[in-house]
Amino acid sequence: MSRATCLFDGCHSAVIVIDEDNIVSLPEGAYSQFKLLENRAEGYAPTSDNNFLVVPDVWDFDNIGVSRDIPSSLLGDLGDKDEFTFDYGDSSWKIKKCLKYLICADCDKGPIGLICQVQDQDNDEEKVIHLLSLRSLQVVGKN
Ligand SMILES: [Zn+2]
Repeated sequence: MSRATCLFDGCHSAVIVIDEDNIVSLPEGAYSQFKLLENRAEGYAPTSDNNFLVVPDVWDFDNIGVSRDIPSSLLGDLGDKDEFTFDYGDSSWKIKKCLKYLICADCDKGPIGLICQVQDQDNDEEKVIHLLSLRSLQVVGKN
């Protein structure tokens, strides 16, 4: 079982236990679009495209902070963008709107993820989920 922690020295606060079944892949563009923190530690090379963890319930986190609302100027209009889709469960989901940033609960560094409104591409059902960027964190205890 692996666990994601804050990557900053002097913090390393526990964020969540990673449920491998909830790992999804978002395009590289998501990092620049949402200005997400990326781990730039020397020797760190992301080798996997499966870079986000879907967290349906905020209580699944060990610790998490939530930022103020995301400025709309930062996000632009996602309305017509089809690129931010991912497969989760039996559906393909599209990010409709990002509502808040996730940040470290202890040191406030981030953003390490997003709270998003997503839409099921098949039946237009919408829900709000947490998308945690695994590249913005330190993952320990990999099996
Ligand atoms: Zn921290």
